[in-house]
Amino acid sequence: MAAPQFLIEGVIITSFAIGCNHAFIYLRGEVVHVYRRLLRAVEEAYAAGYLGKNIMGTGFDLDVTVHAGAGAYICGEETALLDSLEGRRGQPRLKPPFPAVAGLYARPTVLNNVESVASVPQIVNRGAQWFTSMGTERSAGNGLFSLSGHVTRPGQYEAPLGITLRELIDMAGGMRGGRELKFWTPGGSSTPLFTKEHLDIPLDYESVGAAGSMLGTRALQIFDETTSVVRAVTRWTEFYAHESCGKCTPCREGTYWLKQVLRRLELGQGREGDIETLLDTCDNILGRSFCALGDGATSSITSAIQHFREEFEAGMHTPASELFPPERSALFEYTPKQRTSLAGVGGH
Ligand code: SF4
Repeated sequence: MAAPQFLIEGVIITSFAIGCNHAFIYLRGEVVHVYRRLLRAVEEAYAAGYLGKNIMGTGFDLDVTVHAGAGAYICGEETALLDSLEGRRGQPRLKPPFPAVAGLYARPTVLNNVESVASVPQIVNRGAQWFTSMGTERSAGNGLFSLSGHVTRPGQYEAPLGITLRELIDMAGGMRGGRELKFWTPGGSSTPLFTKEHLDIPLDYESVGAAGSMLGTRALQIFDETTSVVRAVTRWTEFYAHESCGKCTPCREGTYWLKQVLRRLELGQGREGDIETLLDTCDNILGRSFCALGDGATSSITSAIQHFREEFEAGMHTPASELFPPERSALFEYTPKQRTSLAGVGGH
């Protein structure tokens, strides 16, 4: 799956299928090595006659443009991506019209994620039955599960849908240092948290949904017992407040205020009623935002309060850095200089 040729072949097949003559591959600008690798693969495909005019004498023309964005999370939202691709600031568009009707440069546009398109050549070669022989009845096939955090070998794991976190952790060499799992995200930080109670839930769309979360991007972030849930949720919320595009009020203002309340809880300076304020603010964002970023920003907070309310209550009097010293949950050994700067974390 590290081979961009799968993606380019998928782009050629899918473009041919829908009669499209210009395809765009949009990726984050920070991933320079991926960008370079993609550009090289596209050049090679042109040189081999798989792209360009009259491909392999079929009369079919296809150009591929690889575009590196400027690094905004919101550009993963399909219409914000289109605005960015057109050279504008990436902000979600009002729908309808949907991109299939009026998308890039107001022309009918099909948007798909890279993983879906990259799996097309194998499905064409081996048949749909081969693909549906993996996974579950309603969530067929295989896919990438990105494991990050406190496992021995974080990384990308390709597995059939319906695999469990217990099995994935085994593939990743177990929990780091033999520690215990505390909480994890099944589909990235915008999906409700799970705990060790959910280790055996099949990771398919239906089962994860029935258990109260979402499979989302399959970005599994795994945290062990040394981690403060308040600290983790505060970091995620800071991220969403930073990445909020500012177009709608519930998300722009709400994420700012969530961040303020969480920061004081992390410092052990929470006030009476802070947990209710968090839940009330989340309630005013969820379902009232212009796009899914706002909704996603609330998921980790409401689920963390549901599973670990006592840690938020402790935030009224005890800093997270005292309950869960950062050096205990560090991924690496600290240098003496880093240790000194960490000692000041709780004091701000
Ligand atoms: S929910 Fe957030 S990211 Fe989405 S449009 Fe509103 S302000 Fe922008």
